[in-house]
Amino acid sequence: MQTNLSDTGLAISRQEAGLAGGATRSAQLPEAFAGKPARLAALHRMVIVGGGAGGLELAARLGDDMGRSEKAEIVLVDATLTHLWKPLLHEVAAGTLGPSENEFDFLQQAREHHFRFELGKLAAVDRLRKQIWLAPLVDEAGLEIAASRPIDYATLVICIGAVDNDFGTPGVRTHAHSLNSKADAERFHRRLLALCARAELGSGDPVRVAIVGGGATGCELAAELASAADIIASYGVQLARLRRPLRITLIEMEPRLLGALPADVAARVHTDLLARDIGIRLGRRVAEVSAGGIVLDDDEHIDCELTVWAAGVRGQDILQSLDGLAINRQGQLLVLATLQTTEDENVFAFGDCASCRPRLFAPPVPPTAQAAGQQAKLLAVSLRRRVAGKTLLLFNYEGRGSIVSLGHDDAVGKVATRYGHELTVDGLAARFTYWILYRRHLALLLGTIRTFILTVGQWLSTRIQPRVKLH
Ligand SMILES: Cc1cc2nc3c(=O)[nH]c(=O)nc-3n(C[C@H](O)[C@H](O)[C@H](O)COP(=O)(O)OP(=O)(O)OC[C@H]3O[C@@H](n4cnc5c(N)ncnc54)[C@H](O)[C@@H]3O)c2cc1C
Repeated sequence: MQTNLSDTGLAISRQEAGLAGGATRSAQLPEAFAGKPARLAALHRMVIVGGGAGGLELAARLGDDMGRSEKAEIVLVDATLTHLWKPLLHEVAAGTLGPSENEFDFLQQAREHHFRFELGKLAAVDRLRKQIWLAPLVDEAGLEIAASRPIDYATLVICIGAVDNDFGTPGVRTHAHSLNSKADAERFHRRLLALCARAELGSGDPVRVAIVGGGATGCELAAELASAADIIASYGVQLARLRRPLRITLIEMEPRLLGALPADVAARVHTDLLARDIGIRLGRRVAEVSAGGIVLDDDEHIDCELTVWAAGVRGQDILQSLDGLAINRQGQLLVLATLQTTEDENVFAFGDCASCRPRLFAPPVPPTAQAAGQQAKLLAVSLRRRVAGKTLLLFNYEGRGSIVSLGHDDAVGKVATRYGHELTVDGLAARFTYWILYRRHLALLLGTIRTFILTVGQWLSTRIQPRVKLH
């Protein structure tokens, strides 16, 4: 296994990396840490692997607290150089959001929040030596930038997210798009534009898109694409003549959409998607995905040019061989309510890559950014207590509701009130609540003032640029 720098979001050429030929070097330390290794060597080192919705929040909180005061050394490892909040990916795929203005460099975050960043992909854990091993880093030409390298830890936190669960369905890996990373979303967007251009310059027929999975990701993508398609088409002649330039079909195995959400929210989303001319096929399982479309379990063939797989998540393959750490059937690491793995008190895991039941018979914590954020907040306090020799805190998931975004100016969902009631929110109010979730994440990373400036800047740029990214 190796990390290809062209997959990291910011490809580093050998010239930029200052390398000649096949020379190697280890990743640079950020300036904030230069000249301090002797003092740092004595500190408790916490290594966080994965700088996503949960991991970057944890690194920022721990860095601002123990990193700044030099009570611990905080190291964040990620396979890419930049962070993009994953719940934005369906907007990036549809082109309604440009990734660059919402993407943050880990190195800058490291400097601002007093942690160290290491670029690399987790390849192995040696629990006896308390070391992780990162895969070799290679550039886009396949030349090695850094050899496989170890990092010692006193506390290890694994939060590397999840991958699509294709349930072994033939053809998914080859023919279906995934929405699991910025690269996936950008690839989908480029393909969408190419197909729209082909339709515009050729047949003038709508582009057919099949989305497999009627959970939040599938429904949000369907609505976002429907909004974006009309805007893309308005820049052409052929497609602009069509009532709907995209023909979207959403396929769900269960008898209703959004199985994890209340039935009234699902019904509202269903009605909304139908109103946008999105075809919905419920209670249908996909048997195979091919280049020309998908085959359902009763052999019905749905022709489409673009298939997106959004039918659930599972743990990454690497978790199956992490030095004996236990996993569940979905391949997620098993953790206790303290978020420690069941096999090793020095190894913690949270977010989508972990399965946590806070109490006996309690349902597992859902794989959401909301849950990952709550776990990061608890761990930031708990790990400080661990360094001070105190007992760890127990995680208790508080479901604060869930909102499904339905395009640019609509959303629907439930929000839990302080008094334990659930309120249904709809339309612009729901869209605003959804928007606030991301702004909270930004405020933690950038601070309130810079989040405000960024928000104003992003609003202003919508006055200048097309509402959908056209390249
Ligand atoms: C389109 C979409 C919409 C969503 N909408 C919502 C929503 O509205 N609300 C909500 O609560 N949740 C939503 N989710 C779910 C949410 O995004 C995830 O639950 C959340 O991001 C999980 O956070 P995490 O920190 O566990 O992992 P992630 O955010 O996935 O981060 C994982 C990080 O680990 C890094 N990494 C991966 N493998 C390795 C490795 N081997 N070595 C080193 N680094 C590695 C990745 O580069 C990444 O930075 C959505 C998801 C998608 C795909």
